[in-house]
Amino acid sequence: EPEFTDALSMFRAAVARSPETTAISYFDGRLVLREVDELSDALACALLAGGFERGDRLAVYLQNVPQFVIAMVATWKAGGVMVSINPMSRQRELRHLLVDSGATALVCLEDLYDEVVREVLPTSGVRQVITTSPLEYQTRNDPRLFANVHRVRHPGTYDMAELMDRHASEHPPAVEFAPTDVALLTYTSGTTGTPKGAMNTHGNVGFNAQTLREWCRLTPDDVVLGVAPLSHVTGLIAHVAVSMLVPMELVLTYRFDATMVVETIRERRPTFTVAALPVYIALANTPGVSAEDLESLRAAYSGGAPVTPAWASRFEEQFGVRIHTVYGLTETTSPSHAVPLGARPPVDPESGALSVGVPVPNTHSEIVDEQGQPMKAGEIGEIAISGPQVVPGYWQKPEETEHAMAGGRLLTGDVGFMDENGWFYVVDRKKDMINASGFKVWPREVEDVLCEHPAVNEAAVVGVPDEYRGETVKAFVTLRQDAAATEDELIAHCKARMSAYKYPRVVEIIDVLPKTATGKLLRRELPRTAR
Ligand code: ATP
Repeated sequence: EPEFTDALSMFRAAVARSPETTAISYFDGRLVLREVDELSDALACALLAGGFERGDRLAVYLQNVPQFVIAMVATWKAGGVMVSINPMSRQRELRHLLVDSGATALVCLEDLYDEVVREVLPTSGVRQVITTSPLEYQTRNDPRLFANVHRVRHPGTYDMAELMDRHASEHPPAVEFAPTDVALLTYTSGTTGTPKGAMNTHGNVGFNAQTLREWCRLTPDDVVLGVAPLSHVTGLIAHVAVSMLVPMELVLTYRFDATMVVETIRERRPTFTVAALPVYIALANTPGVSAEDLESLRAAYSGGAPVTPAWASRFEEQFGVRIHTVYGLTETTSPSHAVPLGARPPVDPESGALSVGVPVPNTHSEIVDEQGQPMKAGEIGEIAISGPQVVPGYWQKPEETEHAMAGGRLLTGDVGFMDENGWFYVVDRKKDMINASGFKVWPREVEDVLCEHPAVNEAAVVGVPDEYRGETVKAFVTLRQDAAATEDELIAHCKARMSAYKYPRVVEIIDVLPKTATGKLLRRELPRTAR
């Protein structure tokens, strides 16, 4: 049973119950729930005074700073919808998101204003621009993180702190939402095409915050490490919304920097996090990190991108921390499947893939064929999902909505299977399949085998054009620090472990793999030509 019909009542209940609980910690700074409430009241009043109306969109273009949370609550208090924009977006991407969402107000960091926003504004519908500094809520200026940050006031913009001061102790008029009202517009990562705005309703947000709380048995004594970008649905739900619901402390570190995050873990002793695999890999590769450092992390989840079995076991051996897999999409408002807390995700004996878990409560998931018909356990098809976390559709995209939501369920574009015991596995994205002489090769499986080699850090596999086979398998590999392996040795490693049509004919060792902020591999940015 949903406890709240909307995300704003969820926040209000937390404030009423424990106003002095730490809501956010940010370096040496702290904000208690009462302060977030007061600041968001003031910001909501400022927005309304600037002409913001019910249903209007406010774009948040920020790193992981406390202002993100304040802006989110303020948007709802002003009756609006928050559009979260990845702070790594550049002019072209930002323009698309502002125009597509029709945002009329924008909150961004001062330096992003200079670098990106200014140029985009004239071609957008944004009228109210509010800038803020990442130094605002921290009391220690850390030169390692903030070296490039400068305080500048730009003409024609408002400073967020000044604006909140001006409207301090004002309260916005009461506002109510139905569960079907849109709370957030979150854009898909665009790894397979142009980003689409998923309409996460208040009901979607409340349901998945509750799901995470129950699934991970979170209580006000828990502390969440906020290392996923808040702009992505993982951060929005598994960091912000769930910390409001419980309520519990949300630890923010501006951006992900492994050394800084380790220091923060030592200080704040977080118990729960959801982060993409590269975050765990970076922690494991940071010199001096011990099992004691990570001991407080009792619920460490990883999702958003595939979790390599070899890395999951390396991490558990090195630190005694088990990585629990979780699966979800922007369209499912974060989790739809997860591994129960304390359980070890099974590994499929045939493909070697790690299970992403079982559907979360009240959620139905099945594997369907090309015609949309359900398939049997063990058969490979498309993962389909229906449940209270699935969005009603994409913002102003009726055709795409119709296509993805055919038959009242979400077709994920992910290929996978369910085993006899109901565990789900993601084989790969439908669009990433390689067709080698008519054989289907799923890049993930080849990547997992490459990662079993002790020298391999990460791998990315693509199909490249081939005169005889149509497509042939090529792997890009990064090596672990101080480890060595030749390209031929890696080919031989795969050849010994997989069918002849699957192993990579070409391996190229490179320094870094192209990724999104959430750790998703950008396969289309890998060179497609065979050497
Ligand atoms: P676009 O649709 O614009 O290409 P996207 O689908 O990459 O963007 P997201 O909604 O951020 O955008 O990502 C969801 C996808 O992430 C899933 O469809 C799936 O492919 C992948 N994913 C999420 N969790 C897991 C997991 N645990 N294992 C494997 N893949 C995962």
